[in-house]
Amino acid sequence: MSRHFTDSHAHLSSDKVFPAIDAILQRAAESNVRSIVNICTDIPSLQKGLSLIEKYPWVHHTAATTPHDVEKEGEAVFDTIAAAARNGSLVAVGETGLDYYYEHSNRAVQKDFLRRYLHLALECHLPTVIHCREAFADFFEILDAEYQINQRHAPGVLHCFTGTMTEAEQVIKRGWMLSLSGIVTFKKSTVLQQIACEIPLDQLLIETDTPYLAPQSHRGQPNEPAYLVETAAFIAHLKQIPIEDLARHTTLNAQKLFQLKDEGEE
Ligand SMILES: [Zn+2]
Repeated sequence: MSRHFTDSHAHLSSDKVFPAIDAILQRAAESNVRSIVNICTDIPSLQKGLSLIEKYPWVHHTAATTPHDVEKEGEAVFDTIAAAARNGSLVAVGETGLDYYYEHSNRAVQKDFLRRYLHLALECHLPTVIHCREAFADFFEILDAEYQINQRHAPGVLHCFTGTMTEAEQVIKRGWMLSLSGIVTFKKSTVLQQIACEIPLDQLLIETDTPYLAPQSHRGQPNEPAYLVETAAFIAHLKQIPIEDLARHTTLNAQKLFQLKDEGEE
């Protein structure tokens, strides 16, 4: 049985990754990570991402200014991202959202850009990739209000989920995906490990968040998509299912959410 993994969230345009992109993507392919969603966060990272399209059709791209940076560069970047979303270059809008833990940008500005990106996603029939930290009440309030105004539900994913069981249930109830990163492999992540057991297999994605958050055995090093397999094995063990099943479900979920073509399994 084949094992084809999909890394639902990696920052391949990062300066820690992009200079070695060919070697890193080769190691990913050798580890059977055969599909990657590259999260672009500004104009240079979007340009770098889109430059990979011809050589690596199995790398897909999203863009948005992160909640950390919206105050500084949200306005200057929005039109470029909107144009890329409208011309079909992107498979999602994001990562957008709210971060009240670091609060690098003013909360009102974060909320404003979250709404604008949700509108853009609805307009372009794209899913959204959400970063949410210590801000779930406001996030759900905005999400539900936008859907009510537009009378439409759009799909999305809570990336690198580290919330509570109740917050996970609220995401699941709305039919959204939850994506787990290498954090789940850390010894202290007992709540997240319980949540991993509860997430229905058809609402689970896995990610590296490269170059951040390397899983336990590579902790402290720059992360890369090849290390996704360690996180996948860990979650499969928690859920007491074969890793092949976890690979298949999470890849199908990513294909469905991001409307990816099935690149075909060998
Ligand atoms: Zn990210």
